[in-house]
Amino acid sequence: MKRNESIRKVFEALNWARQFLREKGREENVAHIAMEFCLGMGRTELLANMHRPLNATEFETFQQMIIQHGEGVPIQYVIGYEEFYGRKFHVNEHCLIPRPETEELVLGTITRMKKSFSNQALEVVDIGTGSGVIAITLKLEVPTLHVTATDISTKTLDVAKNNARTLGANIEWVEGDLLTPLIGSKRFDCVVSNPPYIPIGEKENLSVIVKNYEPERALFGGTDGLVYYRKMIEQLPNILKRKALVGFEIGHTQGDAVAKLLLNKFPNAKVEIVKDLNGKQRMVFAFIESM
Ligand code: GLN
Repeated sequence: MKRNESIRKVFEALNWARQFLREKGREENVAHIAMEFCLGMGRTELLANMHRPLNATEFETFQQMIIQHGEGVPIQYVIGYEEFYGRKFHVNEHCLIPRPETEELVLGTITRMKKSFSNQALEVVDIGTGSGVIAITLKLEVPTLHVTATDISTKTLDVAKNNARTLGANIEWVEGDLLTPLIGSKRFDCVVSNPPYIPIGEKENLSVIVKNYEPERALFGGTDGLVYYRKMIEQLPNILKRKALVGFEIGHTQGDAVAKLLLNKFPNAKVEIVKDLNGKQRMVFAFIESM
């Protein structure tokens, strides 16, 4: 596409982009995100610069980003990061893009850890860490924790390690399938995970932005979406301390099923199904004290 000579200013480029995105069925607010990235500005600064002229390079970069997103590439992969809990995390095609609901899992975990344990030097593990958001945020918010994070993919763990380095979080990394690589090494006070939980049959209903670009192994949890909860719960007795907290993010219809899986394995557990800010069931916490 050739440069449209009539576009010289920020607001004109934004108008072009909004219309382009609308025609492609994408969210128009991505235009602002892309422009902020191109100009290295925050939202407020951008608003104060609507009449600033764009040079050719700035406009072309912006235009390319908008075209890529129009084709379906998530804007977070285009700009290379997503914000989580007020920090920037690098993301790429090897990891899930962190979702705001997962911030609530982190907050809920911190609140319950503080309430349930007097000692704050706890051993915590994040299973299937992806970009590392859960593990890294827990460590940075509660520096006394000792945090371990696992993932099955080397390339994904590299993304998480890079984020930990940039953000200054000291984490122990373990590569492998779910809890398997941890068994026999140490036990944990707290296990947290946002596993893939979309039933595979729902793939066709997902937006192109999700289903064609985010890694399948980070999205889908088998026929009913519960495969990874079942496997993790089966393995939990091998890695939990006598008194432990488990926190899972879940799909909004999975609360009862995941609570039941936990109670089958740990009949004395105190299990809570917790809703997110949108009023949807989003987390299950279990406080487990074994005899
Ligand atoms: N723990 C990461 C996140 O919450 C990755 C989760 C996943 O890949 N399913 O973003």
